Amino acid sequence: MLKLSNVDVKYGSFTAIQNINLEVEEGQVVVLLGANGAGKSTTFKTISGLNKPSRGEILFEGMSTGKWAPEKKVQLGIVQCAEGRKLFPAMTVYENLKMGAYVHRRNKKLIKETLEHVYELFPILEEKQHDASGSLSGGQQQMLAIGRALMAKPKLLLLDEPSIGLAPLIVEQMFEVIQKINREGTTILLAEQNAHAALKIAHKGYVFENGSVVLQGTSEELFSNDEIRKAYIGA
Ligand code: ATP
Repeated sequence: MLKLSNVDVKYGSFTAIQNINLEVEEGQVVVLLGANGAGKSTTFKTISGLNKPSRGEILFEGMSTGKWAPEKKVQLGIVQCAEGRKLFPAMTVYENLKMGAYVHRRNKKLIKETLEHVYELFPILEEKQHDASGSLSGGQQQMLAIGRALMAKPKLLLLDEPSIGLAPLIVEQMFEVIQKINREGTTILLAEQNAHAALKIAHKGYVFENGSVVLQGTSEELFSNDEIRKAYIGA
């Protein structure tokens, strides 16, 4: 579905990621692991079109999309849920969700059905649909950020650090829902610090260090790798 070949991205003269090769097959959950600043968010923004590669190719369903604008990529089915949620805090939960469906704004039936599906996945969002999103708890805001991304009907959902700052019980629920979204047919690329939880639901992963991929493998391979256990999982 998605293939990055030899991708470099620069901020001015600083090369943030270099020679990135990665592949996501339809139906998979793929996780990017790595410390802060390793290049995961830059990779996400490049896939979603917010950054442009200075070298290399990004194929999505066989199309070369490296130079495409983000809004065109959303129409294609590549939808990013950014780190830090980036909600519209003064708008209600419902209004935030509706904004996510902007590309489908002419298809009222589709929006209604997708909204029902999002409310099924996250019942609390229906309960709080008339509340300002800024009044929600951290976990609820993360659910809303994922729900808003789902409103665009992604084929490939990019989730950047969905568990950051959340209590352990909420993290567990979050990963259960992410797995459910995947099982319902959405391919997922996930960046996570919480390697333990992420590898449990992922099919495979890539480890980033200083802007490069230093290791890749199936979740089982990464889980049993001593270096990974020491660096990201503990014990
Ligand atoms: P985090 O989880 O903290 O976002 P990350 O693995 O996603 O970490 P990136 O945000 O992709 O890492 O950052 C990769 C490198 O690029 C870092 O050295 C970072 O300081 C730098 N960087 C990121 N964004 C910019 C920017 N807009 N301008 C200049 N440098 C940047």
